[in-house]
Amino acid sequence: MSQTTPAAQRRVGHGDLFTDHMISSVWSGPDGWRPTELVPLAPVPTHPGTLGVHYAQVIFEGLKAHRQPDGSIAVFRPWENAHRFQRSARRLAMPELPQEMFIDAIDRLVAADADWLPAGDDELSLYLRPVMYGSEPNLMLRPSDEYRFLLLAFLAGGFFGHRPDPLSVWVSRTHSRAMPGGTGDVKCAANYGPSFMAQREAAAAGCQQVIWLDSAERRWVEEMGGMNLFLVRGAGPGAEVVTPALTGTLLPGVTRDSLLTLAARTGYRVRQEPVSIDQLLADCASGAVTEMFACGTAAVVAPIGVLRDDKGEWTIGDGQPGPTTLALRERLVDVQHGRAPDPDGWLHPVRLPGTAR
Ligand SMILES: *Cc1c(COP(=O)(O)O)cnc(C)c1O
Repeated sequence: MSQTTPAAQRRVGHGDLFTDHMISSVWSGPDGWRPTELVPLAPVPTHPGTLGVHYAQVIFEGLKAHRQPDGSIAVFRPWENAHRFQRSARRLAMPELPQEMFIDAIDRLVAADADWLPAGDDELSLYLRPVMYGSEPNLMLRPSDEYRFLLLAFLAGGFFGHRPDPLSVWVSRTHSRAMPGGTGDVKCAANYGPSFMAQREAAAAGCQQVIWLDSAERRWVEEMGGMNLFLVRGAGPGAEVVTPALTGTLLPGVTRDSLLTLAARTGYRVRQEPVSIDQLLADCASGAVTEMFACGTAAVVAPIGVLRDDKGEWTIGDGQPGPTTLALRERLVDVQHGRAPDPDGWLHPVRLPGTAR
């Protein structure tokens, strides 16, 4: 497939339109990492006793490539993901993938499958999914002796749509995503399967997403689904942009970090602090909190309109996406698409075949 028709674009979801190729490599004890190979996307033979499948020794990443105004393609802050992939590997007692290998894999896959990303369409991006798992056929309860690294890509539309409707969000009082001393601050697969049940509970309550509270006190707001959270106090240039502090049970998102930087540069007062759920609900009721949104690579910035729990419902502001939310979203998307200056060097250009770039 080399061109996407407008009709097809409307069907673009998140995670099913895989491109034609993937990158693959294997690590084994004596030899370390083998050189990565670019191969056609195809099933990978898996022994039924593969250690990673049984014991969840699996980590992943997520990042995006965007078309630039000159037709080139740039990946957003891939070195951050390379670094986080290494942190996740250390936490799961896995070998680290050298950051240069991670970046080189991205360069080669994006170059090979660049035609998937049509020029002149703002909504579409190439979502890149690195994954690594213990691939040794062995069920001893210990780290694997062999690992496979794969890099996949799929065509992604807006996660919640281009002009996202505000989300209604369920405050989970019973389920936990992460615990102190656990793995909440890394991207390991074992954090995600257990969250699906809370997601279902939210859906049963008419909500699209879940807000996670801390598991020790059930008092501190941490994240929403697989995204970081922000709230806005006040309005206009003096607005305060607040996100829960990184306590070790939150995933330090690249989008979160980017928005903190852009918000401060725009002139907003920026704070990272503990956010208690009681205070947040009171502030939503009083109007002190004027906007709320979630952020992550997949959805970029997703406005939140309503919070709900088993006792009530709280509308944030007028329930519509707020001006600060939309301004921050636009600032970030403009950098990603090469329409705004990039003073921090966040864009990583990919050399495409047949061009001098
Ligand atoms: C990936 C992820 C995020 C967002 O991280 P980004 O680097 O911004 O994509 C936030 N929370 C959780 C739990 C995540 O897994």
